[in-house]
Amino acid sequence: MRRVPIAVILVCFLFCSCTSHQTEEGSTAVADQPAPSPAQNGTLVVMLGTGTPNPDPERSGCATAVITGGQAYLVDCGPGVVRRAEAARQRGIDELDMPNLTRLFVTHLHSDHTAGFADLILTPWVHGREQPLVVYGPPGIKSMTDHILAAYAEDIGIRLHGNQPQNEPGIAVEVHEIVPGEIYRDENVNVTAFAVPHGAWKHAYGFRFDTADRAVVIAGDTTPSDSVVEACSGCDVLVHEVYAKTGFDGRPPDWQAYHKASHTSGIELGEIAARARPKLLVLYHQLMWGATEEELLAEIRQSFDGDVAFADDLDVY
Ligand SMILES: [Zn+2]
Ligand SMILES: [Zn+2]
Repeated sequence: MRRVPIAVILVCFLFCSCTSHQTEEGSTAVADQPAPSPAQNGTLVVMLGTGTPNPDPERSGCATAVITGGQAYLVDCGPGVVRRAEAARQRGIDELDMPNLTRLFVTHLHSDHTAGFADLILTPWVHGREQPLVVYGPPGIKSMTDHILAAYAEDIGIRLHGNQPQNEPGIAVEVHEIVPGEIYRDENVNVTAFAVPHGAWKHAYGFRFDTADRAVVIAGDTTPSDSVVEACSGCDVLVHEVYAKTGFDGRPPDWQAYHKASHTSGIELGEIAARARPKLLVLYHQLMWGATEEELLAEIRQSFDGDVAFADDLDVY
């Protein structure tokens, strides 16, 4: 398991002089840690948001970045995604600089995974993105995009035609509504979408990223699913949602029914991981309801004895 921030901090003390980042509004954010070298680190998984619909100030809405080949590939855009990307950049992940935020993959359209979409369309553009944001997601993502752009028509018009400097290509959004299968390929990565069962949603996906050095699977929101087992099949990193069964047992019956039909308990995730055999299982979107991290890990340990990380925002693997 790689916990990059620790290594980054060490390297900073040894080698770096701090760098600064001039934003378009004129403010200066100081990055006090140097960039990890992609050649040294290979593919990284950056947890931009590990939260749920609960407005926990310590956990932004769901968003993950796969960093490889100098490019960032975002998965989901929950509330807070842009600010967490900037926080990760200030910790040395240069690929998350605003102008580089050009690739987004959306698992499903639940608001805790998409409420930062408008921010991701607008803010990186305002701060220098000159290319379209290219988006892959389920049916409905096109309509969501069109409505966001319409909702911000006044802002976009002022920025393009008022008296502030602004480029035009960077506000464009290129949207692809996807079906399971290979959905994206470039010189760094192949991305495969697979269907996952998530309550009443007709279209919910997980994604597998195959890069030169790693296979990363982000399962999205899902009940226990064979499709996750197949997509991982010994993958390097499996990022999976989870709820604590001990906390769940205290929930009202109607919420228990919802969560059981939509999400995965620690006990169930242990069984999934034992079959999927990831080298590292990363827990996010943790619904705890008062349970402790140790109690949740004990649930997973009933079936899975591999490496498990309980992710917090800005952890890197
Ligand atoms: Zn969710
Ligand atoms: Zn969901």
